[in-house]
Amino acid sequence: MEFDFDPGRGFGVYVHWPYCARVCPYCDFNVYAAKNRDTAPLLDAILVDLGGWRERSGARRVDTVFFGGGTPSLLAGEDVSRLLQHIDKLWGIASGAETTLEANPDDRSRFVDFAAAGVNRLSLGVQSLDDQVLKFLGRTHSAADARASLSVAQNQFASVSLDLIYARPEQTAAQWRAELGEALKLGADHLSLYELTIEPGAAFARAVRRGDWTPADDEHAADLYETTDEMCAASGYPIYEISNHASSPRHQSKHNRIYWRSGDWVGVGPGAHGRLTASGQRLAIEAAERPNTYIDAVRRTGVGWASSESLSALDQARERLSMGLRLVDGLALADISSLGYGLDESALSELAALGLVRRSETGIALTPKGRLTADRIVEMISP
Ligand code: SF4
Repeated sequence: MEFDFDPGRGFGVYVHWPYCARVCPYCDFNVYAAKNRDTAPLLDAILVDLGGWRERSGARRVDTVFFGGGTPSLLAGEDVSRLLQHIDKLWGIASGAETTLEANPDDRSRFVDFAAAGVNRLSLGVQSLDDQVLKFLGRTHSAADARASLSVAQNQFASVSLDLIYARPEQTAAQWRAELGEALKLGADHLSLYELTIEPGAAFARAVRRGDWTPADDEHAADLYETTDEMCAASGYPIYEISNHASSPRHQSKHNRIYWRSGDWVGVGPGAHGRLTASGQRLAIEAAERPNTYIDAVRRTGVGWASSESLSALDQARERLSMGLRLVDGLALADISSLGYGLDESALSELAALGLVRRSETGIALTPKGRLTADRIVEMISP
């Protein structure tokens, strides 16, 4: 097998840990309540699946590792250590690699073990600094827990990110300003700020259908997005991706940049997605979704893959465009033309005249106004 991966785009490993202490009513990720499950078989399956990926990926250096979920901070430090050692043995983790773990504030007693295992970036699911809102969001932690966890994390990790959710029902601009202002003073290195979206399969969708409450309307959500952008920029956290802000370029997520730049990544754990470029093909790989199905697949075949599709050049061009435009820097036009496709020139001129897209000789990017309708713009200019 020949490997024609472009190392400049980066190579990462994503480990999906699907269990959560409680499933939040807004969440539509592939997650399951942890209860008192025996998780050892899943951990073993992930270790075997990593070996299967190594056979297919060839020798490469791992630039980033990301433990996502679900709630990977439910793992014991020794399990995280076992996974990292295994990844290092299989591929070799590059020196200075970014190793991120998503954590629930409730799990701060394990942060010291995660750091000892080699995690150097913690992404903390704070979601709100208001106890009533945390209750509404179905979170198990309090605002005091979030603050205490952030302070523990700042002592343990080189980089700490926190997540907040805004555009909640009846949230006024003044309330969001106050909450974001408080979060900006906490001194995290990175902020991921998401609008509350009502996902069709989530419990919140049923609550909205029952008429329990009304979601924020699009116009108000767009105003809050602009407020977010302005406040973060003014406090030294410029936006670098549609929902992400960093206090300096070195705190931007290197792992997510692999997705945005269409690099390659291994995806292990139930329902994880991966991309692999080899032998002139770019494979989109998806693991079996349910933990038991995933464990069975690994036991039977040595890999957890449920599907593996070779992406056409057109699929790749579309993916590069939709992912690349998420970045404030945008993408190089050569990223699309090298695959034999071009963008819709008349739509591009129209969008540039409306101030939604910036275009140079070699690249395109969305303007702040354009970021509000990113999906629509991608549809309009996509090959
Ligand atoms: S903790 Fe995160 S992954 Fe788990 S249910 Fe809540 S939002 Fe979803």
